[in-house]
Amino acid sequence: ERLVGAAADREDLAVEAALRPKDFGEFIGQTRVREQLDLVLRAARARGATADHVLLSGAPGLGKTTLSLIIAAEMGAPIRITSGPAIQHAGDLAAILSSLAEGEVLFLDEIHRMSRPAEEMLYMAMEDFRVDVIVGKGPGATAIPLELPPFTLVGATTRAGLLPPPLRDRFGFTGHMEFYEPTELERVVHRSAGLLAVEVTADGAAEIAGRSRGTPRIANRLLRRVRDYAQVRADGVVTREAARRALAVYEVDERGLDRLDRSVLHALLNLFGGGPVGLSTLSVAVGEERETVEEVAEPFLVREGLLARTPRGRVATPAAWRHLGLTPPAREGG
Ligand code: ATP
Repeated sequence: ERLVGAAADREDLAVEAALRPKDFGEFIGQTRVREQLDLVLRAARARGATADHVLLSGAPGLGKTTLSLIIAAEMGAPIRITSGPAIQHAGDLAAILSSLAEGEVLFLDEIHRMSRPAEEMLYMAMEDFRVDVIVGKGPGATAIPLELPPFTLVGATTRAGLLPPPLRDRFGFTGHMEFYEPTELERVVHRSAGLLAVEVTADGAAEIAGRSRGTPRIANRLLRRVRDYAQVRADGVVTREAARRALAVYEVDERGLDRLDRSVLHALLNLFGGGPVGLSTLSVAVGEERETVEEVAEPFLVREGLLARTPRGRVATPAAWRHLGLTPPAREGG
């Protein structure tokens, strides 16, 4: 597991429930989505209706699960949490849908990874609050219609574009979650430190926020590692110094790059003069699988403006040279 990975690890799962904002007031950042959702839910409440289905798109760890819990809380409704990969057969989905209470929120994480038959069942359930349960096999199979109570589906996906249009169209509202600004992550760190009874200074929180890759989950994780360090090697207070030293131990640099990210940049700069170089060649030089370089390291490097994917291969930007303390080569002909 990477310390700066966005997916939840075991420890995250154990502590996240305690750190989750419980209502819109506690939820930091995402002002646009928050305001839009607040309006959707208020209007539904005023009409005494079940809220429209909501699709949340965004990278892991930005707060999609948290928002779904807030939606349920705001609607005074119970919530059921499941995920696309957990629903292998349409029957699995039928069992969940038929046991929902009226107004219940069904949170379906990674909705783009549901099986095709389940997806088709979901279309009808979302639109008509009805499913056809198939009984029997072959020519004798019959479809038994089953009425469902109105419910609110909250689907989460890393990219709305991954969803087939018929599914996407059945959501009344789509919220796009953005990466967080460093000042917002500072507030996340302060809030979490309060809940964990950890003392943190303003510059300590800023130091952690700047290394958290725009992601609250990572901010909370780095906070815990810095707290450990501060407890063992200092007086327990999360200061800038403690954060710097702790994250040096874990090889997370001031911009949130870890060893893998830096080794990709090092190879690109030192072995290939900044590129362009093909992905396979670069991966061999780094000693990693192609997929690891392409899917694990590159997205953040591209987002940070340190690496560009061009038709001729991977290219380092001048910012990449500067980040590793090197001078960018003079542009040819420039
Ligand atoms: P995944 O896609 O991996 O399921 P997610 O987008 O559902 O991730 P959450 O589980 O909701 O992310 O959030 C991860 C952690 O980040 C939670 O523990 C929560 O405390 C924290 N968090 C997320 N968003 C916020 C926020 N806006 N303010 C404060 N803390 C937040």
